[in-house]
Amino acid sequence: MKKTIICTVCPNGCEVVAEYTSKDDVKLSGNRCKRGIEYCINECFDPKRTFTSSVAIKGAARRRMPVRTTAPIPKAQLFACAETLRGVTLEAPVACGQVVIPNVLGSGADLVACMSLDKKED
Ligand code: SF4
Repeated sequence: MKKTIICTVCPNGCEVVAEYTSKDDVKLSGNRCKRGIEYCINECFDPKRTFTSSVAIKGAARRRMPVRTTAPIPKAQLFACAETLRGVTLEAPVACGQVVIPNVLGSGADLVACMSLDKKED
């Protein structure tokens, strides 16, 4: 197989071409350094992304709380992760970094709040 990947490890954004038959037989070209090798191999066989979104929050000055995973999760789980958030509503106060869903979808990453929101004074 052949795949073109933009390496996002550094701002150079090298366009890397990967030709492979298996994980043990990968030929890369276009990478300017060795740091992109692991990233490109993962992109071929196990692509991952940090998930970012927002969830509802009650009792705060805002109605949505931005959230993200503490580590990249499998790209194939991104839609399922978004679905998981549909029924979630937080209650203020919430601290930045507070775990919203531990080990989301068994990925090993927690879903955490990205900001602190105090309880709104009435
Ligand atoms: S291959 Fe190396 S130089 Fe190119 S984007 Fe990736 S990390 Fe940067």
